[in-house]
Amino acid sequence: MIDGPATTDKQKRFQSELESLFTRSSAKKARIFPPPVPVAPDVYTSLIPLPTLPSTDVYAPYSPLPLLARLRTYSRRGFTLLEAPLDAVTLARQGWIAVKADEVECGVCKARFSLHGLEGIRDVGVRREVVRRLGLGMKERHAADCAWRVRSCPGGSLETVSARC
Ligand SMILES: [Zn+2]
Repeated sequence: MIDGPATTDKQKRFQSELESLFTRSSAKKARIFPPPVPVAPDVYTSLIPLPTLPSTDVYAPYSPLPLLARLRTYSRRGFTLLEAPLDAVTLARQGWIAVKADEVECGVCKARFSLHGLEGIRDVGVRREVVRRLGLGMKERHAADCAWRVRSCPGGSLETVSARC
């Protein structure tokens, strides 16, 4: 035999437990994945000053800020800008930084290569051919175990940098 008031108490307790389950679950949901780790923003507007550029001896082919740091060495060191594929953009995408006028160095493997004297070639056709052939072999001028030898910055990374600057 079930007592009337006892049943009512049980029902009330059941109802309150049931409601507390629903209110607790709606108030605070359990996370399945850990909260996202804050990362550097992808877009820097002109109103926000650029962050401190990273070191040029870091291998990060997919990061625009190290690419920008390598590109800045060309303007600061008085590098004579040649046409592609020995222009500053292509060299920086392959991990090269300017250490002197017309001399580049890899920040990772410290391989150096001088491009001195190319602008002295008077015949434009000959100079373009020399530049083209030298440019084809720039990846192989890294040390055998250098990561830049395997993977350069992808083609769209320059557009990313210029669009953000
Ligand atoms: Zn290297």
